[in-house]
Amino acid sequence: MVAAVNNNDMAKKSERTCAGCGRTDTPRAFLRVVMGGAIDGEHEVVVDVGGSSVGRGAHVHPSFDCLAKACKGGFARSFRAKVRANVNELVAQIGEAHDRRVTGLILGARRAGHVEIGTDASCEALTRGPVLAIVACDAGSVVKKNEVRRAAAEGRAVVWKDKAELGKLFGRDEVGIFCVTHAEIAREIQEARSRSEACKGREER
Ligand SMILES: [Zn+2]
Repeated sequence: MVAAVNNNDMAKKSERTCAGCGRTDTPRAFLRVVMGGAIDGEHEVVVDVGGSSVGRGAHVHPSFDCLAKACKGGFARSFRAKVRANVNELVAQIGEAHDRRVTGLILGARRAGHVEIGTDASCEALTRGPVLAIVACDAGSVVKKNEVRRAAAEGRAVVWKDKAELGKLFGRDEVGIFCVTHAEIAREIQEARSRSEACKGREER
């Protein structure tokens, strides 16, 4: 009984409050933002994807509704300052910040030899073990391959960017599919993608 109470207290202490809906949650459930520079006395809101930026911070659920509410007053209350925040601009900034993070994770994985590029190498990797497939939105017939369909059904595939943009990551003209074979990096990529998608406006879905 005593141990249970202590655990509860510890969990409560590490909880954060959403600047949007006002509900408490564990830090992992949130996006962290920090107060940026001021223009005409109104501070910008800067998303902190790595969770390490210095400055006055606030937490907000990665959801359009929570971001919209926070822009209307929650961030100003958290920062105790005037805030210039537009939800659509913030969602765009969050998308770009997460894209940069995903790019960094992929390039790191590549340097360490944890990436298989192209249809044949990807399908082989997907057969070998639990890897993450990253598929271009215009990948074409590769998405009909059994290995890719199975990966998608099991939540081991994400659609991101197009063939030309994925190609640029690896110095090629076009890449329709590649796999990240490092479990922890794959998990971080999936988390960044799902957070970024969760923040998008309803009208964009
Ligand atoms: Zn919330």
